[in-house]
Amino acid sequence: MTAAPPALSVIVPCYNEAQGLAEACRRITAACRASACGDFEILLINDGSTDATLAVMQGLCATTPPIIAVNLSRNFGHQMALTAGLSLCTGEKALILDADLQDPPEHLAAMMTIMDDTKADVVYGQRTARVGEGWLKKTSAALFYRAMGRLANTAIPKDTGDFRLISRRAITILNNMPEQSRFLRGMIGWIGLTQTAFPYERQPRAAGKSHYPLRKMIRLALDGITGFSIVPLRLAAYGGALLGILGLGLLAYVMRAWLTGETVQGWTSLMVVVLVMGSVQLLCLGVLGEYLGRLYIESKRRPPFIVESVTRSDEKDNA
Ligand code: UDP
Ligand code: MG
Repeated sequence: MTAAPPALSVIVPCYNEAQGLAEACRRITAACRASACGDFEILLINDGSTDATLAVMQGLCATTPPIIAVNLSRNFGHQMALTAGLSLCTGEKALILDADLQDPPEHLAAMMTIMDDTKADVVYGQRTARVGEGWLKKTSAALFYRAMGRLANTAIPKDTGDFRLISRRAITILNNMPEQSRFLRGMIGWIGLTQTAFPYERQPRAAGKSHYPLRKMIRLALDGITGFSIVPLRLAAYGGALLGILGLGLLAYVMRAWLTGETVQGWTSLMVVVLVMGSVQLLCLGVLGEYLGRLYIESKRRPPFIVESVTRSDEKDNA
């Protein structure tokens, strides 16, 4: 017997979130009931946590149903954990939410109303304020969204994270997009359809600490830029053309000096040219390398994530 799909799936990626997970599930369950969305399922995706997250999840399956605890075989990263959730969820809609309660689940009811009123396929949370986040995080995020706005021809709304309510139609499209490097907020922007903003205040983390150090943020930003724009490659070519023109000017100057016998001593200028040219060439090679590396990873066509086991509220373990 196959049960009818639930009206809503809540997808929660979890990496070392043991501390706050019980409270998160309690608030999500309460928010789902309050929104009168119908029946729902909560998918907790354990992304290779090294703390007791998996044990807590499995405990919650029994005490706070309806929960599906999905255990990935290792840490695949936030975007892959979300990808896993999207491909395993069965709901007519899905709410994507962080486990740290920075995006309050209580907004669900309002987001559902907006989705119905505007007949949208996507309602995305747009941060009007980021309470309790550091200067570095806020500035880098602001810079990133502005750079993306200029570089990518896909509309990626400013100041959004992955907090979104999406329709089954959009989930199916996303699940059919084959790319390995998954910058979900960009992919969701790319699919088009009707997408409506939901302004909200991002809260401080309820428990634990952020898993996005600068290194991971830079990686995510590179994924976003290379996945949605080839402008950096073009800039390399334009930069090359510009330097070529400058080089021709310099050549004319050198030839004149040679013909008139005014050969200058020129060590400093020579060093400057060599250093500038060398670093510009390396930079362009690096840009090429970024794209080539991604092409290589895409060409391997590996599955984007591996599910080790799934535990459901109503069963013991069906791994
Ligand atoms: N996360 C994950 N895998 C990772 C890193 C983070 O599943 O490798 C989850 C994390 O548990 C949280 C969400 O992704 O639910 C967002 O992470 P975090 O709160 O650390 O990021 P921030 O809000 O600081 O940007
Ligand atoms: Mg967070």
